Amino acid sequence: MTPPKQMPKQMPNQMPNQIPGLTITSTPIGNLDDLSPRAAQSLKTADIIACEDSRHTGMMLKRLGIVPKKLQSYHEHSPAQTREKLLTAMQDGKAVTLVSDAGTPLISDPGYRLVKACRTRTIPITAIPGPSALLAGLVTSGLPTDRFYFAGFLPHTSKKRQTTLATLMPLDASIICYESAKRLTATLADIASIAPDRLCYVGRELTKRFEQSWLECAADLAAHFADHGNPKGEVVLIIAPPPNEKPEISDDALIDLLRSERKKGVSRRDAVRAVAAATATNKARVYTLMLGLESP
Ligand code: SAM
Repeated sequence: MTPPKQMPKQMPNQMPNQIPGLTITSTPIGNLDDLSPRAAQSLKTADIIACEDSRHTGMMLKRLGIVPKKLQSYHEHSPAQTREKLLTAMQDGKAVTLVSDAGTPLISDPGYRLVKACRTRTIPITAIPGPSALLAGLVTSGLPTDRFYFAGFLPHTSKKRQTTLATLMPLDASIICYESAKRLTATLADIASIAPDRLCYVGRELTKRFEQSWLECAADLAAHFADHGNPKGEVVLIIAPPPNEKPEISDDALIDLLRSERKKGVSRRDAVRAVAAATATNKARVYTLMLGLESP
């Protein structure tokens, strides 16, 4: 028997775990074991870890037994000088790893302006991909994954939320929203007011010990949470795409079309063929109607 081929430890052309410049590093959304070895290595070796909240990241690093070289708080409200300092360090050849409190930085989290500035200054950028609540939700939802739209957080007030939902809900895609658990019932009620039968998924505390999920129509889910109260913890909400089955054309409508074809002098066979094609209807069904209309 031929022994199995050994996988090379390092694939050729593999990106190193740390580069001078910016590494965007995903961290767990609730389960520490989801931190990848590459992410851990990057956190260990980065000259600077730019993090949303240094206390939060400090605690995560402590639990992982990682002693960072330097932690720098960097968030939405950081002054422009903080970004400038990080950019200068990277231009001087330092390796900066960007993390947020949980999941993938820049996804409803800080980092966009830093990445944009790195692009402008041609500072190298790479990512260590990993957990993100939006994908954990999508892949467990049972809703279509071939096309999806990430809407981030919905507006907090019902009026604005309804306007946003009215724009989003006709999209032919699964709509992924981050939502505060406190607003979940109100948001589901808004969805139900537009399309009560639309399937919705709620994923709560994904990857955590008390993970739960629901997939039901908007009206039923809204009623469920109205009865039981808003859930605790963090939630992802996904709205199914609108149903795309066309309403089936009636026999009467098909007969009208067949009559008008025949009035044009089209043969019975061609009339059946034309009407079936124009209405995407089964030819046998149209043929049977033609027989009823004009038996040979
Ligand atoms: N950057 C993060 C990511 O990649 O998923 C998202 C950060 S955003 C500030 C936080 C929101 O993500 C929460 O309000 C919730 O909607 C969602 N979220 C984060 N962790 C979650 C989890 N474990 N289960 C469900 N939703 C989660």
